[in-house]
Amino acid sequence: MDQKQSRLDRARTQYALYKERPLDISMARGIPSKKQLKLSESLVNDIEIESWLSEDELDIRNYGGLYGIKEARELFGLLLKTKIEETFVGGNSSLQLMFAVLNYHMYNKQNPWSKAKDQPVKFICPSPGYDRHWFMLDYLGIEMIPVELTGNGPDMEVVEKLVSQDPSIKGMFVVPKYNNPTGESVSDEVVDRLASMHTAVQDFLILWDNAYIVHHLTDEKVEIKNILAASKDSGNPDRVIQFVSTSKMTLPGAGVSAMGSSTKNIDAMAEYFSKQLISFDKINQKRHVKFLKDKQSIEAHMEKHREILEPKFSWIDAILSAYFGGESQSFVEWTSPKGGYFVHLTTRVNCASKIVAAMADIGITLTPANAAYPYGSNPLDNSIRLAPSNLSLDQLEIAMEALCVCIEMVTLETYENL
Ligand code: PMP
Repeated sequence: MDQKQSRLDRARTQYALYKERPLDISMARGIPSKKQLKLSESLVNDIEIESWLSEDELDIRNYGGLYGIKEARELFGLLLKTKIEETFVGGNSSLQLMFAVLNYHMYNKQNPWSKAKDQPVKFICPSPGYDRHWFMLDYLGIEMIPVELTGNGPDMEVVEKLVSQDPSIKGMFVVPKYNNPTGESVSDEVVDRLASMHTAVQDFLILWDNAYIVHHLTDEKVEIKNILAASKDSGNPDRVIQFVSTSKMTLPGAGVSAMGSSTKNIDAMAEYFSKQLISFDKINQKRHVKFLKDKQSIEAHMEKHREILEPKFSWIDAILSAYFGGESQSFVEWTSPKGGYFVHLTTRVNCASKIVAAMADIGITLTPANAAYPYGSNPLDNSIRLAPSNLSLDQLEIAMEALCVCIEMVTLETYENL
């Protein structure tokens, strides 16, 4: 029997054992673990609010202050490098703010993207990217154009060509730091090119989703060049809206989100929100200011998250290296992110869906294969996202060993000549 056949037999035997004793593990979404949530329990249980007045004299129990309370706008302004008038603090979800921005541009009364009925509205989608961005665009009927990521952000040659020629392309998403799911960060050059590129539409919009702005996993704390300043310098002050939230700093179910942009954009969004609510939860904004305090204490708090998360990422790397590290013909390539919440696997072509299905059959749920591509459509069928945050190290070890067996089995079944 040749070496390949015996290796496949061994993988199938191991897989059959998993099938006899199915597991119940999910690595599908980037959910903070209970241990991480505990780090912020005192936000709810111990923070005392001595004064109901915000620094700008708003009674935080009452209506009012749609832009957010002064001290919260200042705190998020530190993260976003924006002035108070350039900063808007919302509810618990930055995705809600992003959807609001898209919805505003699609349907506002003055100059909606949806005005040209016979022309589709299109968006550039750096891929592999965040599936919920793609769901949002799809829901709004915005056509998605995937552009490959390079390791330093989107392929700018392609982006520049597309946006300079096609006036139906209205904007793009970018996750600048520790991208979900590839972990990559944009280089200074990419920031400058995005800020200054010629676009066929005058009001081209970049949704700069900085969800992992302080979510480092190593000592190399990646810093991204200030895109708002770069776009101002290039004469495009309204091109970028930045988003952050505390979902993965404090409590995703009860956090605070913010956006930073030109005052023109911020005022337009405040006007849009004023039609649907009178103000967001200012008590929670105040609590967050008291809990997170300043940049230094946010960094100290994020170190505690890192202590919990980093071993999970090291463990994934160690197990994949042990299985596939020495292969002359690689079964799989994987990322070793310096921050964020995900590891991205690039399998051999036509293997990702089968691997995810094989995992599901033994009770391990992964994000659907290729979900990181718009419409979930990736002709190469080679993209899998791993989200280890909510697993214990023991569960992770079991899941990763099973994953390696599935990768080995599916790849050998798919590639006879390997
Ligand atoms: N953006 C990205 C890139 C994310 O990965 C996530 C969470 N997985 C979010 C946004 C969600 O943000 P929020 O909880 O603030 O809506």
